Amino acid sequence: MHIAMVSAECAPIAKAGGLGDFVQGLAHELIKSGETVEVWLPAYDVLRRELVSGLAETEPRLQVPFGGQPIECRLLRGSVEGIPLLLFDPHSEHRFFGRSRIYGEADDAERFAFFCGAVLAHFARLDRPPDVLHCNDWQTGLLPVLLAEKQGEEVQTRTCYTLHNVGYQGKVAPSILEQVGLDVAALMTPDRLADPHEPGLANLMVGGIRYAGFVNTVSPRYAWEVRSTEQGMGLQAVFDESRHKFGGILNGIDESVWGPEVDAHIPVNFGLGSLPKKAVNRRELRLRVGLRETEKPIFAVVSRLDRQKGVDLIQHAVRYALAEGGQMVLLGSSLDPEIARAFESLKAELGSGPDCHLELGYDEALAHLIYAGADMILIPSLYEPCGLTQLIAMKYGTVPIVRRVGGLADTVFDAHYSDKSFEARNGYVFDDATEAALEDAMSRAIALWRRFPQYFRQLRANGMRGDYSWRKPARDYLKIYRRLCELSAPAGSC
Ligand code: ADP
Repeated sequence: MHIAMVSAECAPIAKAGGLGDFVQGLAHELIKSGETVEVWLPAYDVLRRELVSGLAETEPRLQVPFGGQPIECRLLRGSVEGIPLLLFDPHSEHRFFGRSRIYGEADDAERFAFFCGAVLAHFARLDRPPDVLHCNDWQTGLLPVLLAEKQGEEVQTRTCYTLHNVGYQGKVAPSILEQVGLDVAALMTPDRLADPHEPGLANLMVGGIRYAGFVNTVSPRYAWEVRSTEQGMGLQAVFDESRHKFGGILNGIDESVWGPEVDAHIPVNFGLGSLPKKAVNRRELRLRVGLRETEKPIFAVVSRLDRQKGVDLIQHAVRYALAEGGQMVLLGSSLDPEIARAFESLKAELGSGPDCHLELGYDEALAHLIYAGADMILIPSLYEPCGLTQLIAMKYGTVPIVRRVGGLADTVFDAHYSDKSFEARNGYVFDDATEAALEDAMSRAIALWRRFPQYFRQLRANGMRGDYSWRKPARDYLKIYRRLCELSAPAGSC
């Protein structure tokens, strides 16, 4: 089967968060199982071209209709870690993908609408188009709409649309639809793209949900939450109406990237059979971030610093960890200036003392070292579509302390209160988004670390033993792709 994954991110060349890991991991696994996969991405100026092999333009160039005037777009082919890439590189005064970052621009709606228009233009002229287009998040929500409206329903049904975060829906001015040649009057109705709560705006995620052949979130629990609770962020009814083609598939992690046995970023590789070697990584982590060598547990945070991640609780956790005699390493990046300022002032207040290091920014290599060297990782999210950091941490013998939401609830089972067998318990879980609930979980974790180190080791081992690979999720996606092909004619195309 031939699958094109259309996305705003793909690790390691263009990553802002879990979406990048998702595309890389799923593409690797599908290729391993013999499928033909391509990743279609904008050719950002920040794309790490040094990691792309065989990068070359493929003729002819596209003329992408946009705002009444065609924009010329080069197509570049290459590959990263064996994953074939197709990069869309427009040439216009807008410099859509020449902004020194992936997201966060005032005209993100135009930038990604253009990307969808360019994908459609490419798709429309292929003799043998991919069997399935796998779209992701609001940035590509317009693509199933464009395919249906411009190419017909048969193509529309062969789209899988994965939602990595319903908090970002792409609510945009209807003029965006016009720019890519869609009929605004026909589409801005309550049963199509009009936002359910701000009917004057077009909601690109709603478009993707309504028009795609299948829609999924990145964990089963989040699928339930978005349909049945306020986590649907106003789209509960839209999910409910699409329930016949809606589900949740838990993400995996790419073990060739996130495997302590093979990780090239960490000083010493280790595994379940060589857990004591984790101590070497702990020592190196302390050296790297300037923490003293001492008999204290290292708490860690590796996160985008976004409201979703529970930033107030993260700040509280930093103070509480230090007050309870732990050490703290935080690596966090923020696009929100207010949140960035709050962490800058926390850093100024706590200083970079012998037990505390707050690093504000994005650092892939340091993230690997933190997973390998820390003892516990804190993830007090307000909502969490899947969460990869708890899965990665567990693989590296770092015990997660998480709030029971979304994918965190699906993957972390409390050391004391879970109804799972002892071997399946792998962390600490709390329910309320309060300081008291967080403290309770942290204090239970510290107590076990201090008083019962052999049980704490067992907890680490339980986490390391878990199968968080892409094997099962990739099989699930393949089943969906096959079903989409069966549903759409012509026979024998897949
Ligand atoms: P989200 O997609 O919401 O950001 P996930 O838990 O799904 O959260 O994925 C986060 C990914 O981004 C992980 O691979 C994590 O290691 C990485 N990451 C998050 N923040 C940083 C950072 N500041 N520096 C380096 N890597 C980070």
